[in-house]
Amino acid sequence: MTGASRGIGAAIARRLAAEGVLVAVHYGRRKADAEQTVASIEQAGGQAFAIRADLAADDALDTLFSELATGLAGRPLNILVNNAAVYADPDDPAAAQADGYVAGISEVTQEEFDRIFSVNVRAPFFVTQRCLPLLADGGRIVNISSAVTRIAWPLLPYAMSKGALEIMAPRLANELGHRGITVNTIAPGITDNTKTNTWLHDMPGAAEGVAAMTALRRLGQPSDIADVVALLASDDARWVTGQLVDASGGMALA
Ligand code: NDP
Repeated sequence: MTGASRGIGAAIARRLAAEGVLVAVHYGRRKADAEQTVASIEQAGGQAFAIRADLAADDALDTLFSELATGLAGRPLNILVNNAAVYADPDDPAAAQADGYVAGISEVTQEEFDRIFSVNVRAPFFVTQRCLPLLADGGRIVNISSAVTRIAWPLLPYAMSKGALEIMAPRLANELGHRGITVNTIAPGITDNTKTNTWLHDMPGAAEGVAAMTALRRLGQPSDIADVVALLASDDARWVTGQLVDASGGMALA
């Protein structure tokens, strides 16, 4: 699964490993975090290995699939989770200072837009394409989108990229259904990821405000998303495909 070094991705990796899945913990920059995810899985009795590839790089796919082949060592691929994403350009100090939250269209550079689309749209498209010959019949593809496609918050290029990602599931579901492969999308709301959403705890009242706009009246946790991925990856969800599943606790319901 992509982007499993931290946050929601790490929680998904741990949850799938707890189900007995051998997990390829992909990461981009944070090797120590990926190794920590692998270590926590192994400590809990699961199996995982870390693989690195910068999904914005031109050679991303060759690197990723070469490392994946080594780690799998001939074992089958059953589940692909496209989770890795960027909110803004991590090399842009202004964006980094603002926790990656770009305020408006006039502040977005072409480079930033291209980077967001290369990681959030191009990468899952071609990672999926390269996975298909490896993916077993009856396999699962789960893409991680965001409630920002439903709720008109800022983060415009990010929201646009997730809108493009969501287009994949119904079309691929039709294309791959004859192999018993399901393809679904999960859209989390604002999730209590202490690595990215630091503002939730730094800004007075932010956490309470987010909880108040959520039907279930609390902050979403990475494990809330991971449990839904595990459900869609399980045999219990064999009849669910091409769907967008909102996993936001009912955030900003109309
Ligand atoms: P994080 O920023 O905590 O983690 C992102 C992951 O993606 C990391 O493992 C990171 O690897 C990887 N990644 C990012 N860029 C690259 C790249 N160029 N190449 C390879 N790997 C890369 O994200 P979250 O846990 O917050 O989000 C996970 C998913 O959930 C994303 O798809 C996000 O859009 C979605 N989401 C998150 C919400 C939230 O509130 N947190 C809300 C709604 C949706 P590394 O750190 O090693 O570079």
